[in-house]
Amino acid sequence: MKNIRISWQIFVTSLLITVFALLSVTWYASSIGRDFFREQARENLRVRAELIDKLVHDDLLQQNEQELQNKLKNIQIGDSTRITLILPSGRVLADTEKDPALMDNHLQRPEIVQAINKPYGTSIRFSKTVKRDMMYVAIPIWQEKTLAGFVRTARDIAMVEQTIAGMQRRIFFAGIFMAVLTAVASLFMSRRITHPLFNIIQQVERYAGGDFSRRLPKPHTLEMARLSEALNTMADQIDEKIEMIERQKNEQQSVLESMTEGVIAFDNSGHVISMNKAGGKLLNVDPNEVNGKFLGELIKNEALENLVIAVLETSLPQESELAVNLPNEQILTVRVSPLQDEESETLGALMVLNDITRLRNLERGRREFVANVSHELRTPLTSIKGFVEALYEGALDEPENARRFMEIIYRQTNRLISILEDLLTLSRLEREGELDEVEFRKENLKSILENAEQICMYNAEKKNIRLRLKCPSNLVVRMNSPLIEEAMINLIDNAIKYSPENMNIDILAEKKDKHVVICVKDEGAGIPDEHLSRIFERFYRVDKARSRKLGGTGLGLAIVKHIAQVHGGHVDVQSEMGRGSCFSIYLPVDL
Ligand code: ADP
Repeated sequence: MKNIRISWQIFVTSLLITVFALLSVTWYASSIGRDFFREQARENLRVRAELIDKLVHDDLLQQNEQELQNKLKNIQIGDSTRITLILPSGRVLADTEKDPALMDNHLQRPEIVQAINKPYGTSIRFSKTVKRDMMYVAIPIWQEKTLAGFVRTARDIAMVEQTIAGMQRRIFFAGIFMAVLTAVASLFMSRRITHPLFNIIQQVERYAGGDFSRRLPKPHTLEMARLSEALNTMADQIDEKIEMIERQKNEQQSVLESMTEGVIAFDNSGHVISMNKAGGKLLNVDPNEVNGKFLGELIKNEALENLVIAVLETSLPQESELAVNLPNEQILTVRVSPLQDEESETLGALMVLNDITRLRNLERGRREFVANVSHELRTPLTSIKGFVEALYEGALDEPENARRFMEIIYRQTNRLISILEDLLTLSRLEREGELDEVEFRKENLKSILENAEQICMYNAEKKNIRLRLKCPSNLVVRMNSPLIEEAMINLIDNAIKYSPENMNIDILAEKKDKHVVICVKDEGAGIPDEHLSRIFERFYRVDKARSRKLGGTGLGLAIVKHIAQVHGGHVDVQSEMGRGSCFSIYLPVDL
């Protein structure tokens, strides 16, 4: 059913009421008017009949027909009233309109019948004689107690009807005027009522669309004002609640987003309903495009999927450590717990992912490191033990051998000390780096490099290697100079060790963007590409035998790397087989 506007309803209803009221009033007024005019006309006719009785009384008693006829003619002049004189027998004695001789007996006329018993008789009917609706009033004429005849007066009641019709017309036009007035007024009224209603509807529609920025003005009518006020209060409350929910949601969102753990929520059927940034990063997917998808569509890992399925089926939390390829292997701890409502109904599952790859790598690194250290220490110790045993078992008595063995023991002991010193340096660097205990000062870099050059000069000269330092004399860097000097000695020493005789080694320092780059460039054999990525690891050597022969511990470059790192910088190596290597330390200038 089509909805009708309230204003239209009010308008039509009030119009109908007006028209109905008008018709009723017209009808009522007409019938009252008609009665009134007829009563007037009747009374008028009766009075006239009595007057005529007085004029013709005697002639009527004597039944003097001619005289009566003459008298009636005189009376009738200038009056439309018809007068009829009738004998008790019903015979017409005289009549103002027609010859009595031609008129039939009137005894059965209703007004005559009534007048026999009452002070007068009356009737309204169509007169065949005058061919019009007539009102008749007849009064009885008494001679003493004997009925002597009737005086009947009659008049055309068309006039009465005309008067009533005129009245009806006037009421009708007044009614039309009233109806138009009412229509306009009701239209105006309905507009006045519905206008604020329209505002309210528009506003409520805005609220329904989520726009709570505007409030309703206060209408004039009490009811509308209360409605508007109630709506405004409601909007304030909803707005506040939405804001609160939004704030809470944002807070929860930012908590989720700032978590390093990946958090993924699933609904009851296993579809993802939300995923935080860390979750997206761990699974290598865009968290904004995962909603509504199954976990299997995002990552091919059955074990991970099974955990979610198990929780959804059993409502029991599950925990596991999994290796996933995304595309590099990552080790994740996965905890999946059921999402439950207040009635402990399972609504879904919540997965928390933790990337422990680094932790596991560190553990592996430490294990390897312990194994490496043991191995590195074991070699010289075994050698020392062997030679001590040889001496003990008699070599002491062979001065030549004894001296040689003692030399080896001395060398191996030095080697042990070197390894331990390097290990201590490394652990000190690690500890101080972690605790921020390293002291930095702004120093002139050139003088530090010159010191390192001086210290290495002796070894260089032994191989006839020329050290060439190139550094701007005003280059000031915030650093820990003993550490930088140690790193430089390590790099220059390596360059000397792994270069043939008569070569050049360049020590270059310059400012590049946000770093000061110190580079030690040799013309040695170079390092094969496959070793470059691991060369800074502890105990990593390209050629183990050569390194040992040259007295290397395999820790020099690891120390260099750590020194660069405690300065907030990093290291880099470039090498070309047969042409030489270039080791660089990058130190941030704004440290
Ligand atoms: P080591 O004590 O063995 O020199 P380092 O940590 O200083 O240990 O160096 C690790 C390995 O890197 C060396 O064993 C060597 O194989 C290689 N290396 C270092 N510097 C150079 C260089 N300038 N030229 C070629 N190889 C180098």
